[in-house]
Amino acid sequence: MLIWCLALLALCIAALPSSAASPTVLQAQNFKMAGDTSRMRLVVQFDREPDMRWFLLRDPHRMVIDMQEAAFGFDAGALEARGMVTGVRHGNLDQGNSRIIVSFDGPFEIERFDILQNEESEGFRLVADIVASSERAFEAAMAEQIESTGSTQTTRKADRLGQGGDPTADRFRIVIDPGHGGIDTGAKGVTGTQEKTITLAFALELKKMLEDTGRFDVFMTRDRDLFLRLDERVRIARQHEADLLISIHADAIRLKNVRGATVYTVSDKASDAEAAAKAMRENLADEIAGIDVEEDNQEVADILIDLIRRETQGFSLRFARSLVGELSSEIQMIKTNPHRFASFRVLRAPDVPSVLLELGYLSNEEDEAQLRDPEWRAKAAEGIAAAIKAFAQGRQDVGG
Ligand code: ZN
Repeated sequence: MLIWCLALLALCIAALPSSAASPTVLQAQNFKMAGDTSRMRLVVQFDREPDMRWFLLRDPHRMVIDMQEAAFGFDAGALEARGMVTGVRHGNLDQGNSRIIVSFDGPFEIERFDILQNEESEGFRLVADIVASSERAFEAAMAEQIESTGSTQTTRKADRLGQGGDPTADRFRIVIDPGHGGIDTGAKGVTGTQEKTITLAFALELKKMLEDTGRFDVFMTRDRDLFLRLDERVRIARQHEADLLISIHADAIRLKNVRGATVYTVSDKASDAEAAAKAMRENLADEIAGIDVEEDNQEVADILIDLIRRETQGFSLRFARSLVGELSSEIQMIKTNPHRFASFRVLRAPDVPSVLLELGYLSNEEDEAQLRDPEWRAKAAEGIAAAIKAFAQGRQDVGG
């Protein structure tokens, strides 16, 4: 199918007169995309205002952009797969119409699709922001578009996925993220315990405890010794439409006497120098595993920070406070400021309240011994479960 499409595309392109010879045709001059596996920005430059519309296709998940006849001057390298995008194709459909097809590696949402006049130069540009979403959200967007285009294949509203008929749709959903994994072992304890092993053991026990209440749907970013990029962890939380993400860690630092649990939330500005250093260590996970964090990512990271909704941030803070409260009665917290904040990449889902829980310090002998003790871990999990119950209750009471 793909080969057939490509062949057809090649034929269409070959049959066209060269772009230089037909200045009346829209010039699609430059294609750029940047981002990661949870968020992408596409920017396409045109010599004049393009007349565009877009729609979605599935299997695989695609965004199709239609416009008036265009001559494409894209650089082949710029179209190569990256982040969520698995491929970009473009060409002419029939007399007077052209198309760009962007394929993605999973369900997505088009957060922004704007045609803007260039400020500094001639011409116009398309700016599209795409974020990873759930299968349910993608299906809903597809159903919406079928309705708005007046197709006879309209699905009745009640038949749509996630609208009525799904008794689990309103259940509180939690994603537990065991820190590190695979080639990224995380911190190392005084007797050699690896952070990635402790976080996974703890996360599996916490999952079971939460599921046993019968009140929650619980998902894991990983359930085995597996490397995951930080943005993939964020994406998994968004795909499950999580109401809460808890990232579990157990750090090691040079000061051997520092011990106790700490709760972190995301913020551009760190609460203190230690929290800033901690975020820097955790954000290095991708580089440690040899993943190139593209230069482009910096720009996207800034956009990401801007997009963190105030509301989500409010919920994260509320949960963090409740977590500190409940945990204090079960386990030892760090002496000063048990709730801190810094710029953690794994906490940047714009619509999922997220906290990072440092269970204790593997660099401290007593903390390490406790982290290896299933009874101690059960007490810590109790504290978290109590905080989640209170938080979930509060959200359901306000209809959120
Ligand atoms: Zn860690």
